[in-house]
Amino acid sequence: MGNSDLTVGPAARRRARSSARVPSDGAKALMDHELIGATANGHPPKPKFPPSGIQGNTARAVAPRRDRPPKGHQTGPGKANSGRSGSPDADVRHEQDRVPSALFDRFLRVRLTVLGGCGAWPAAGQACSGYLVEQDGFRLLVDLGFATVLRLLERVTANQIDAVFISHGHPDHCADLNPLLRARALRDDPPAPLPLYALPGALDAVLGLDQPGMLTDAYVLNEFAADGLFDIGPFRAQTRLLPHWVPNAGLRLAADDRLLAYTGDTGPSPDVVELARDADLLLAEATYVDRVPEDSRRYLSSASQVGRQAANASAGRLLLTHLWPETDPAAAIAAAGDQYDGEVGVATSGMVVDLS
Ligand SMILES: [Zn+2]
Repeated sequence: MGNSDLTVGPAARRRARSSARVPSDGAKALMDHELIGATANGHPPKPKFPPSGIQGNTARAVAPRRDRPPKGHQTGPGKANSGRSGSPDADVRHEQDRVPSALFDRFLRVRLTVLGGCGAWPAAGQACSGYLVEQDGFRLLVDLGFATVLRLLERVTANQIDAVFISHGHPDHCADLNPLLRARALRDDPPAPLPLYALPGALDAVLGLDQPGMLTDAYVLNEFAADGLFDIGPFRAQTRLLPHWVPNAGLRLAADDRLLAYTGDTGPSPDVVELARDADLLLAEATYVDRVPEDSRRYLSSASQVGRQAANASAGRLLLTHLWPETDPAAAIAAAGDQYDGEVGVATSGMVVDLS
């Protein structure tokens, strides 16, 4: 991929901003609840950031990008001030909140569920990096850091996972691969081997935690080249090697005309912008708010930096993740919002974002 202009363009698209509509009664409620941003016609005022904290109830919802409405989108005059999307699809999603989500999974296009978004080590109620990405019933895990399996098993069984993609070998991104594989391998009726996708050698440590041979029948390891292009179920995955202390694969994931970009952990790189080009959602590591310590400057990013990258990539929405524990999420959102005109949120355990 070529270099990209890192200057924020004056013609950045105007997008709807909205305040969160997020339940506050615990992670389980969040798991069952879908975040749907309000639609605003015209140019809504800049939202007030919610009270801060690392728990899920402080997360902001992100609204559908206005220049690319969902299929079947119809905005009627009576919907303008409804506080919800004017799309008929929004009503369907609202009904979903009251029924088991599995009944609806096969109707969904692309859905992201945050298992955790905490950098380095888990916080109370917040797991490290891990995301469940679903498309038409296929369940892909993207990273699986500390404590993410706990969150995952609140939603689906270990057997219901179809594939795992790991960005890099740091344990806050892959440690819970071990309990996931144990949960599949040690049962009386183990499922088919789980396809794993990772850079060469990235999973050596976590796959070596148990005695030799104990888990080898539980997975099939697919090691991809640094600049890879391959399919994972219904997804087309494109990867780029991004700067980090260890090899780290940034990901551009496409399915059903929807695009999700994910950085893993990375320092600044024009390849981040290319991976996120016109993505519906950029899920970006933002360990720091606006100043990265000197010794980490090449290998980690700030919310301010990824805000600028989202703007230059014309990404539809930006979800900050991997915040250093105890970072004020409102400060991170504000820093990114100074650079990026679209919707910004902070990834917290249980947050669900539909890309459809
Ligand atoms: Zn890392």
